[in-house]
Amino acid sequence: MTITLITGANKGIGYETARQLVAQGHVVYLGARSVERGTAAARSIGARFVQLDVTDDASVAAAVATIKDAEGRLDVLVNNAGVLETELTGTAALRAFDTNAVGVVRVTEAALPLLRRSRGPRVLTISSSAGSFWAVTTPGRPEHGLSLPLYSASKAAATMLTVQYAKAHPDIRFTALEPGTTATDLTAGLGIGRSAEDSARAVVAALDGDGPSGTLRDESGALPW
Ligand code: NAP
Repeated sequence: MTITLITGANKGIGYETARQLVAQGHVVYLGARSVERGTAAARSIGARFVQLDVTDDASVAAAVATIKDAEGRLDVLVNNAGVLETELTGTAALRAFDTNAVGVVRVTEAALPLLRRSRGPRVLTISSSAGSFWAVTTPGRPEHGLSLPLYSASKAAATMLTVQYAKAHPDIRFTALEPGTTATDLTAGLGIGRSAEDSARAVVAALDGDGPSGTLRDESGALPW
């Protein structure tokens, strides 16, 4: 039985990923910052709810302690929680980096002791090709025309964290994933994307895949930095 924790899983890609993994037989801890939204989401798919705000150390520690007490280990961590800030202000920048990059550090650091107790530990961070220097500087790529400085910069940081974690922990497989442009609340203002169900399939496939640790990927394979 695979024990999986997904952050920000009360809706969107995280929720759909949780749903598909439960259907595959994973024990899924569905992390959400709202008790109300998280409880309802977990109940609807047979997952286990943990209150988890990736910007709050105490909340992260409590969520990991719950899993430790119940399972004694964690096999898969999906760092999925994310925000898209469009205003270019200091406050928005702090929020973007706190959630999209610092949140990855908070949750990964808290989860490492439990991941080390797994026989095949994996950390999948839902990053973005909007944080790829190659994609945003290549004319013709959709990311080239996308002007979302805080989102791109914070996702570039999330991808770099994946590389650094992979180097520091060779026994744990770390992957940064571009899940595919998806119509969720995050992208509602842009009016783009496929269904969360399709993108969650890419997330689940990435968890099953055996590519090298420390890479940025989409469903077609490794992406340049
Ligand atoms: P979404 O539907 O807006 O879901 C985002 C999730 O993150 C929500 O559950 C949200 O919870 C949660 N969240 C935000 N701040 C949080 C915090 N501080 N602590 C815990 N949870 C928090 O968006 P999505 O498209 O599914 O995004 C999922 C991930 O995919 C994100 O990391 C996003 O950057 C990435 N991504 C998305 C696309 C796309 O095209 N949609 C493309 C590339 C990458 P609340 O309901 O409480 O706000």
